[in-house]
Amino acid sequence: MYNSNKPLMLVLSSPSGAGKTTLTKKIQESDTSFKVSVSHTTRKARPNEVDGVDYHFVSKEKFQNLINEKAFYEYAKIFENYYGTSKSSINKITEKGYNVLFDIDWQGAEQLTNHKELNLLKIFILPPSLEELEKRLISRNQDDKVAIKRRLSAYSVDVTHSKNYDHVLVNDKVESCFNKIKKIILNHLNKKN
Ligand code: 5GP
Repeated sequence: MYNSNKPLMLVLSSPSGAGKTTLTKKIQESDTSFKVSVSHTTRKARPNEVDGVDYHFVSKEKFQNLINEKAFYEYAKIFENYYGTSKSSINKITEKGYNVLFDIDWQGAEQLTNHKELNLLKIFILPPSLEELEKRLISRNQDDKVAIKRRLSAYSVDVTHSKNYDHVLVNDKVESCFNKIKKIILNHLNKKN
């Protein structure tokens, strides 16, 4: 269990298909001090997704109201949909003494960086290559051809922003990438304490 005075805010960002979801699950399973931040989104739920677990699925109107109420730590528009981290969902996690694991994009990570009071650690995950990313996107069978093309064209933009992260890792083999993340967390906490 990772302990620190301030809850750790661990951000994992990556182009979709780089294996971030698997890594997020592994971190949570291996360390119960982490709770995943459940974002709000205006995207439609996929068949296997559960409201309140994977995301809080809301209408555009509701999302706009939350923006007006300044309810978000950060939010971004990604592929025509809005995604945001509400302050209340983070507070619920940190109040209980847990660390927070964020699966958010570079736009959100940059906004969180402006909250200087947070104990933030940002890791960017890259796929081994663009070809491998395309293979993974096709094999997971979640997107149609147009969506895959769109994700691949977003790749280079995503990668440009990786320089603003504390660490950039290539997810060649999941287990070795996961071990590197564990080491990075421990080093970060040792520096802080
Ligand atoms: P998906 O629609 O595939 O679940 O997610 C698309 C992208 O949105 C992913 O890169 C994911 O990291 C990002 N994302 C999910 N929730 C949030 C959020 O609350 N804020 C931001 N900025 N990005 C998010």
